[in-house]
Amino acid sequence: MTGDKVALSYLLLLALSLPPLSIYWEEISVMDERNTPMRTYQVCNVMEANQNNWLRTRHISREGAQRVYIEIKFTLRDCNSLPGVPGTCKETFNMYYYESNNANLWFIKESQYVKIDTIAADESFTQVDVGDRVMKLNTEVRDISNLSKKGFYLAFQDLGACIALVSVRVFYKKCPLTVLNLAQFPDTITGGDTALVEVHGMCVNASEEFEAPKMYCSADGGWLVPIGRCVCKPGFEENKDVCQREWACRPGTYKASATDAYCTKCPPHSSSPQEQAVECVCEKSFYRAETDPRSMACTRPPSAPENPISTVNETCVTLEWSPPRDTGGRGDITYSLHCRKCSGDGRKCTPCGSSVHFVPRQFGLSSATVLVTDLQPDSNYSFTIESQNGVSDLSPTPRGTVVINVTTSQTVSVVLKERRSKDSVTLAWQGPERPNGAIVEYEVIYYEKNQREQNYTVLKTRSNMMTVDGLKPGTTYVFRVRARTDGGYGSYGGEIELETSHEGKGMNDKYLFFAYNNCAFLFRHCGYIKAKQDPDEEKMQFQHGRVKLPGSRTYIHPHTYEDPNQAVRDFAKEIDASNIRIERVIGAGEFGEVCSGRLRVQGKREIYVAIKSLKAGYSDKQRRDFLSEASIMGQFDHPNIIRLEGVVTRCKPVMIITEFMENGSLDTFLKKHDGQFTVIQLVGMLRGIASGMKYLSDMSYVHRDLAARNILVNSNLVCKVSDFGLSRVLEDDPEAAYTTRGGKIPIRWTAPEAIAYRKFTSASDVWSYGIVMWEVISYGERPYWEMSNQDVIKAIDEGYRLPAPMDCPVVLHQLMLDCWEKGRSDRPKFGQIVTILDKLIRNPASLRELANSSVWSVGYKLNAVNSTLSLTRACSLEMIGLDYRI
Ligand code: AMP
Repeated sequence: MTGDKVALSYLLLLALSLPPLSIYWEEISVMDERNTPMRTYQVCNVMEANQNNWLRTRHISREGAQRVYIEIKFTLRDCNSLPGVPGTCKETFNMYYYESNNANLWFIKESQYVKIDTIAADESFTQVDVGDRVMKLNTEVRDISNLSKKGFYLAFQDLGACIALVSVRVFYKKCPLTVLNLAQFPDTITGGDTALVEVHGMCVNASEEFEAPKMYCSADGGWLVPIGRCVCKPGFEENKDVCQREWACRPGTYKASATDAYCTKCPPHSSSPQEQAVECVCEKSFYRAETDPRSMACTRPPSAPENPISTVNETCVTLEWSPPRDTGGRGDITYSLHCRKCSGDGRKCTPCGSSVHFVPRQFGLSSATVLVTDLQPDSNYSFTIESQNGVSDLSPTPRGTVVINVTTSQTVSVVLKERRSKDSVTLAWQGPERPNGAIVEYEVIYYEKNQREQNYTVLKTRSNMMTVDGLKPGTTYVFRVRARTDGGYGSYGGEIELETSHEGKGMNDKYLFFAYNNCAFLFRHCGYIKAKQDPDEEKMQFQHGRVKLPGSRTYIHPHTYEDPNQAVRDFAKEIDASNIRIERVIGAGEFGEVCSGRLRVQGKREIYVAIKSLKAGYSDKQRRDFLSEASIMGQFDHPNIIRLEGVVTRCKPVMIITEFMENGSLDTFLKKHDGQFTVIQLVGMLRGIASGMKYLSDMSYVHRDLAARNILVNSNLVCKVSDFGLSRVLEDDPEAAYTTRGGKIPIRWTAPEAIAYRKFTSASDVWSYGIVMWEVISYGERPYWEMSNQDVIKAIDEGYRLPAPMDCPVVLHQLMLDCWEKGRSDRPKFGQIVTILDKLIRNPASLRELANSSVWSVGYKLNAVNSTLSLTRACSLEMIGLDYRI
C-alpha cells in the first residue's frame, strides 16, 4: 500500500499574504515551458556582500500531521556563469521553520526559526525558460517531524545567491482508508518519526471479530503487518471485502461457522430448506454423529454382517463373516457379539455369561473375525453378530444382525470292546446315539505309556472298530479316539490304558464303557460306519513330528479296471431317476448341461444337488469318459472335495449327481464379489482348497487341472475341489492348449516340468495351487493377464514369477513363490501349506504386512514390454523402464 500525500500548502507565492522580511525578494510572473503564467520569487544580489534576505510563508496548519514534507522547486545561478561577481557570491540558501499556534504572527525573530537545511542546487535539474533565460530547475524535498503546535511558518534565507523559487509544496503522508480481512482501517496520518502507527480495524457490516484486526501505518504511508481478521456472521458470505445479505446462504446450502468464507452445498443425505442455514439437516433415517464435521454426508447404521461361517476346534469356535453390504456411508464399522447357549432343540436359549471368552474381544471388533473360547462341549450356541457404526446409537431401528448357530460337540457313549493278544489290541466303539451330521472318519491315537513325546501313532478309519497290531508284548499303551466330521476334528476322548498280553498268553475280551466329547458340529447320519474293521483304514506314524504314511488309502484309476462300468458300480451309488427333480440349468459341461435340482433320499429330507447329464447321441467312449468322473469322485470323501451323491446309469439320460454348490465356480464368484472379503476369509478359502488337495495327494491322486474355475463354492464359502473327469484336461478345459510335445495343458496353471515333459505330480499340483492362491487374492484376475501362452512359458523359464496382487499379505506372496520353485522337491507339500495357513488364521496379525505389489519378483530382467499386459486390481505392475521381450 502506498501512502497518500495531502497538500498543506502549494504555490507558496500565492500563499504569502504577509510581506516578505526582505525587500530583495521580488515576486515576478513568468511563462513556463507550456506558456502557462507562473509566479516566482527571485533574489539575485550577488554583486553586494553581506546579504541576508528572508522570505517567509503565512501560517500553515499542520492538520494533525506530525511530520510534513516540503518540496521546493527552484533555480540557482552558478556564480561562475555570472560575469564579474565577487567572491561573496553564494550558490546555496537556507530553509527554516517556526512552529506556532498563532496563525497571525506579524514578526518572527531570526533566532526563533529552526533551520531545516541548507539547500544547494543538485544534479537533478531540468531546464526551464525564465524570461529570456534558460535555467535549470531543481527539486528538493525536506521534512520536519514531531510537530505539535497548530501550524508553522516556513522561511527561506538568502545570503547572496541568485535564486528563483518556483514552487513550494507542503504536504504530509497518510495511510489511506482500506479494508482488509473484512476489517476497515481508517485514513491514518503517518507517525512523527520513523515509528509505525498501530491502527485497529473495525469489522465491516455483518461481520464479527474472529481475531482483533490491526495493522501498522508506516512513515511512508504504507500499511504493514496485518494481524487478525473479521469474518462474516453466520448466514452471510464474504464477497469482495463485504459480507452481503444478498449473498446469504440459499436453501440447499449452509455456512456452519463464521470462519467459513462461503456457503457450501449441503452434503449428501442432508438439506437446508431455509435461507441462511448454519447447518443442513439429515434426511430421514440418516444421522450425524456428534464428532462428524458439518461438511460430512449424513450417514446411517450399517446393514447386517453377511455370510457368517464357523470353524469349530474342540471347545473353541472361530467365527468369520463378510462386512455389511451397506456400510451406511461410514468407515468406522465395528462388530459386537452376543452369545446364547441353547437347549438341544434350540428352543430355549440363555445368555452365555462371563465364562465364555472372545479373542480379541466381544464388543467393538474392527475385523470381521473372532475366536470364541471356553465353550462347553456338547452344547448348542447361538451367536448374534451385530454391526454398528458411529451413528448406530442415534437410530431407533434395531441394529443389523446375523445369527449363526454352532454346536460345539456331542457326547457319544462309546462301548469299547477290548480284545487283546500279545501284539495287538482290538477296539470297537459305537457311533453317536443321536447322529446329526456326517462323520468323515475316526482317529485313534496311541502310544506307549509315558512315551507320547517320542513316538505316537495315529490311525484313521471310517469304521467304528479297529485292530491295532504290531504292538510289543506285555506293554501298556494309551489309546484315545476322536471323530472328524465335515466341520473338523472333535476333541479326544478320555485316555484308555491297555496292556498287551505277555508272550504265550491267549486272547482276552473285555467291554468297557466310556464317553468322549466330539468337538465337531453339524453331525449328519453317517451311512458307512461298518460293524467290522474297515479296509480303508489309514495309518500314520508320527516320529519326532515327521509324518510317515504307511498304507494310506490310494486312489484307483478307473483305467485299471478291465470293465470301466465295474469301477462305476464299485465307487458310485446308483440312484433311481424318479428321486431326482431337475429344476434349472446352471452351466454347460463338456458332455451336456449342468442343472440344479433336488434329490429325495429315503428316510431323509430332500437335498439340493447338481445334475450333470450326458447328451444324447454319445459314443461308448464318451459314456466311459463321462462316468469316469463319477468313479474317481466316488472314491473321495472329504469336506473340501465335491461329494458324489450317485449316478443314474440304468436309464437315459445318464447322469452324475453331486452335492449342490450354491455359489458356483470360485473364479466367477470372486470376480462378482471383488474386494468384498476379509483377508482371513480369503485365507480360509485357500485353507479349504489346500486341505482338499492334501487329501487328494495323500491318496496319490494328481489333479492336473487345479485352477479357481475348477473349485466350487457353497453358501458357507466352503471351497471344494472339483472336475475329476479323465478327459477334462484334454478336452474340457478351455484354458488347455496344445504343447509342442502334443497333449493339451492349461499353461498358466501348470508347472514347467509338466509342460516340458509331462511330469505331473502332487508337486506340480502345488505349483497350480500357488496360481490359485494368486487368483483368489486378486479376486479372479487372469494369471499373467493377456500375455500369450508362449510368453508365459518363456518368462517362467527365465525366472519371472507373478508379483503380489494388490493388498496381498507378504506371507501369502512368499507362499506363492515357494509353490513356484523351479525344483519341484523345493516346493512345500500340501500338508505343510495347510499348517502354514492354519497358523496365519490363528494369528491374523501376521497377515498385516502387505507385499509391495509394484515390483517384479525374483529379480526377473525383462527386455521389452508387451503392450497387452493390462494393469488391473490384481497387480499394479511398474512398467516404466522395464523392457520385456521373450
Ligand atoms: P463342469 O462341467 O464340472 O466344469 O461344470 C460346468 C459348470 O456347472 C461349472 O462351471 C459350475 O458353474 C456348474 N457346476 C458344476 N457342478 C456344480 C455343482 N456341484 N454345484 C453348482 N454348480 C456346479
